Amino acid sequence: PLVLGIETSCDETGIGIVRGTTLLANVIASSMDEHARYGGVVPEVAARAHLEELVPAIEAAVAESGIRLEDLDAIAVTSGPGLAGALMVGVGAAKALALALGKPIYAVNHLVGHVGADVLRLGESDTVPLEYPTIALLVSGGHTSLLLVRDLTSDVELLGETIDDAAGEAFDKVARILGMPYPGGPRIDAAAATGDPRAIRFPRGLSRPKDMDEHRYDFSFSGLKTSVARWVEHREDAGEPVPVSDVAASFREAVVDILLTKAVAACADYGVPRLLLGGGVIANARLRQVAIERTDAAGLTLRIPPLSLCTDNGAMIAALGAQLIMNGHEPSTLDFGADSTLPVEQIQVAPAPVVPAV
Ligand code: ATP
Ligand code: MG
Ligand code: FE
Repeated sequence: PLVLGIETSCDETGIGIVRGTTLLANVIASSMDEHARYGGVVPEVAARAHLEELVPAIEAAVAESGIRLEDLDAIAVTSGPGLAGALMVGVGAAKALALALGKPIYAVNHLVGHVGADVLRLGESDTVPLEYPTIALLVSGGHTSLLLVRDLTSDVELLGETIDDAAGEAFDKVARILGMPYPGGPRIDAAAATGDPRAIRFPRGLSRPKDMDEHRYDFSFSGLKTSVARWVEHREDAGEPVPVSDVAASFREAVVDILLTKAVAACADYGVPRLLLGGGVIANARLRQVAIERTDAAGLTLRIPPLSLCTDNGAMIAALGAQLIMNGHEPSTLDFGADSTLPVEQIQVAPAPVVPAV
């Protein structure tokens, strides 16, 4: 099926067009720069940017793919989770487009969309898609979630998530402590390249034995961030220079260790031999390197979609819509809305009831 996907859950206006598992267009307009002076994504600014970017992005995606809107089989849109005002812009646009074209609409879960990105083939040479079940680790500015995906369109279970800051958020906050501008992830990553990851032993949140019952697969990064802040303050109070590269490398090492220890443990506990990574923090060089090392050592298959499909995008939403169609799911009824706290188990919102054949 030919599907157009609309993604507006955070600061990326994403329009993607796919035919089945083939990517035809993936247009992304980010309002990241507009948020930079506030040090983080401002919901109202994001929503307004979506409003401005959406129509040009749709036009660009249609042009890039060479399709005609009339030829679409369906529209897919992110219903949640995300910023309410930002989501509403995409949901409104998707409904308008579906009504105007007379096409069915699939309202889907943003996090499951990140997993769905993996099915997309970018060209003839691309590798085979991941099999199921798989453990999925999604790490971005707004999410840090560990999922057990038994079936992309019908069975996703949340194993754990962050109880405070998201991993990307921690990168952004620590970058600020070190005097780097937003977004901090790429800056920390660059500074860490010349630092010693063993210079400072920062705490690994929720990894002590006593945390292992209730919070076995949950994450915590706010203690780590505070610990970095204290360490830097101590240095400054003592009038000593702050070894920025060493702090960045040691902090990055702690985040990577926390994320992969829990993800690999989940694979072992559930007897799942596969790990899929997704989300904007996957851009982190050290995270990808350690992921390769640890999954190799544990005999696990590792999948990392290309970065353009890891950060928020419309193609992954279109891909999930196409998967729902191919697996016989009915479209959503038009009464769905934006749900900022949509649980990950809810893959599709407001699916039409299946009418039994008589
Ligand atoms: P959502 O949470 O809805 O997916 P988001 O916009 O917050 O949306 P992304 O756009 O996927 O998330 O990712 C942005 C985050 O990734 C920022 O927090 C940024 O600092 C972080 N990031 C980007 N590159 C790197 C990197 N190389 N290392 C670490 N973090 C990075
Ligand atoms: Mg973003
Ligand atoms: Fe996302």
